[in-house]
Parts: sequence; C-alpha cells; structure tokens
Amino acid sequence: MAFKWFKKKKKQDTPQPPEQPPEPQAPALPEETRTERQADIAALQPEVEPEKAPQPAPRAGEPPAAPVPPADAPAPKIGLFKRLRKRMSKTRKGLSSGLENVFAGKKALTEELLEELEELLITSDMGVETTMDLIDQIRKKAKKVSTVQELTSVLKDSIVARLHPEPADTSSPAAKPHVIMVIGVNGVGKTTTIGKLAARFTADGKKVLIVAADTFRAAAIEQLTIWAERAGTDIVKHKANSDPAAVAFDGVEAALARGIDVVIVDTAGRLHTKVNLMEELKKIKRALSKKLPDAPHETLLVLDATTGQNAVSQAKQFNDALEISSLALTKLDGTAKGGIVVSICDTLQIPLKYIGIGEQIEDLQDFDAARFVDALFE
Ligand code: GDP
Ligand code: MG
Repeated sequence: MAFKWFKKKKKQDTPQPPEQPPEPQAPALPEETRTERQADIAALQPEVEPEKAPQPAPRAGEPPAAPVPPADAPAPKIGLFKRLRKRMSKTRKGLSSGLENVFAGKKALTEELLEELEELLITSDMGVETTMDLIDQIRKKAKKVSTVQELTSVLKDSIVARLHPEPADTSSPAAKPHVIMVIGVNGVGKTTTIGKLAARFTADGKKVLIVAADTFRAAAIEQLTIWAERAGTDIVKHKANSDPAAVAFDGVEAALARGIDVVIVDTAGRLHTKVNLMEELKKIKRALSKKLPDAPHETLLVLDATTGQNAVSQAKQFNDALEISSLALTKLDGTAKGGIVVSICDTLQIPLKYIGIGEQIEDLQDFDAARFVDALFE
C-alpha cells in the first residue's frame, strides 16, 4: 500500500509563516553523534556525483556502537500513564508553563494571544501546518475560552481530533514466523527498540529470534547480542562486515527450522560511505522474502524525536524507497519538543505504533493518542 504523504495544502487566505527549512538543524546530541548523524542525513540525499573510489574498509577508529545502558533495578510497577507522564515532563512543563505565560493577565482569546500560542506550538515542534490548523480550530471556539484551563481543554481536544483516534494494532501478529524489519538512520534507537520489542513479545509468550543484519561494525553485533540476552531471545549473527542480506536469509531459515513466532531484523543506518543505504536495505528485504514470500510482514521505521522536523523528512525518504508500514518514535523523554508526535501523526499517513520513553527495556509503549495528549497536559 502506498501512503499519501501530505494532507491537502493550507487554505490560501491564512497568513503563511516563513517556510520551514528543508533540513532543520542538527539534533542536540553529543558532538561525535551529531557528526555521524549529519553524515547519515547526507547519505540520504540524492547522490549528485558518481562514486568511483573503491570502498574503504571500516577504519579501526570507527566510533563504537552505543553502549547498552545497565539495567535498572526492577522498576516499581507504576501505571503506563504515570510513567509516560513522568517521562514526558520536559515537553509537558514547556507546554503548561507556556500556556500560563500566554494567558497571563488576559481574559479572552485575543489575536495577540493566538499569535503567542502559535509560536508556543511551533516551538514544541508540532509543525507549521499542523499548528496553523490547530489555531484555526481554537479561534472558532474563542468565545468559550476565558481561563487557561479552558484554553488547555480546547487545545487538547483539537489535538486529539487531529491524531489517529484508533491506536495502531499491536496485538499478536498472525503470520508465523512474523518478520519485522527495523530500519532508520544511525543512532535513532533501532537496536534499543528491538531489545525492548523482543522483551515484550517474549513476555507475551512468543518465541522470538533477533537477526543481526547490521554488520557494519562488530560493536553493533555485540550491542544487539547483549539486548538479545536481556530479552531472553535467540540471535542469528555472522562476522562483522559480512553480507547483511545473507544474515537476513539465514535468519528466516533458522526461524522456520526452530518454530519461531516473531523475527526482528536489525539493520545498519549507515554504511561505508560509498554504499547506498537504500539499495542495501532493499537487498535485505528481498533476502527475507526468498524463503518466506510475505516477509517482511512489517517494515518498522525508527525515528528520533530529538531530531524534530527532520524526522518527518527522514520518514518520507525511507518510505519512498522501502514502503514503511509503521513507525516507532524514540527519545521522547529526552526532548522538550514532544509536539513532534502531533506533527508526525498529522503529516504522515503511516501509523505511529510505538513510542520510546527511556533507555530501559520497559521504556517502550504502544502509542495511544488520547493517553499521550493527557500526559502532555495533565
Ligand atoms: P541505532 O543506531 O539506531 O541502533 O541506535 P541505538 O539503539 O544504538 O541507540 C542510540 C542511543 O539512543 C543509545 O544510547 C540508546 O540508549 C539511546 N536511546 C534509544 N532509545 C531511547 C529512548 O527512548 N530514550 C532515550 N533517552 N534514549 C534512547
Ligand atoms: Mg544499531
């Protein structure tokens, strides 16, 4: 199924703010990661010059894969909502104090107030188009708003109405084995999300197999191995720098032989500079379907919330090449710009299935629009 990317263009009579730059600034990450990410994003751009140079072997000084954070002591059983609310505190505080400031000393929704509100929503990364639509809706209800509580409630309702009202289907998959191919640029949280997902399926009584098709660095395979141990699942891996498509093929073969329920395939988000990432991912996809024609049953794109609007453009590029079936948005705990969730759901016609709210194995939740919006404002 092909997805429709952008909803109908804004009405012409609405004043347009300056266009978003196509590539927003680098995310707030440590220097090294930022440089890597810029390389990844550059690699996503259409190639302008033919590559003639032979492919460089990975250098000894390659940056290591992200270390697997030590497991916390078992978390006290707090509810999903409380945990989400706590982890989203950066965005929540920004929005609620922002709303207080916008409303301070005012008794009604003036144009000036609406302008300040527009700025607040754009600052939280809800995206220009989405924000303008929200402001239009709020303007229509202006008469009912004379307190900050009323403003919050109108804003919440308008946001929920713009999100997919039905949560994505995260019930147990039907196919056996059900193959999930996980893709996304380097550092977004693919490996971590795979570990968390594997743990969830295992807890659900499923037999899970993780496949290490990110063969770019030895450290990436080690990192995934630690997550597999933590999640209590099997792993299929080859040596570093081996052919990722061959690992993928072996993974499906092993899954069929071992009666596995769910296969989760990790992939690289960055390759030797001369290898085209999208072509390599397509090869992996084809290798998965060789033994199992329907595989992958799911192509899950992982996006990093801290990269803001850049996440939206990444999704578009990956979808053009690989047809994404669902999204996971990570690191919502690490940003004051959690409004990106609203922007992603409103702009991309791809279901947001999971959200990552921390580095621990239990920090992956099904995305539920109503719960999310409550956690943002309550
Ligand atoms: P990959 O390169 O896409 O496989 O990314 P990794 O899974 O290696 O993750 C990169 C970094 O992001 C690691 O330090 C992870 O611990 C961190 N990370 C992943 N998901 C989350 C999340 O939801 N919240 C936070 N705070 N960190 C995360
Ligand atoms: Mg990885």
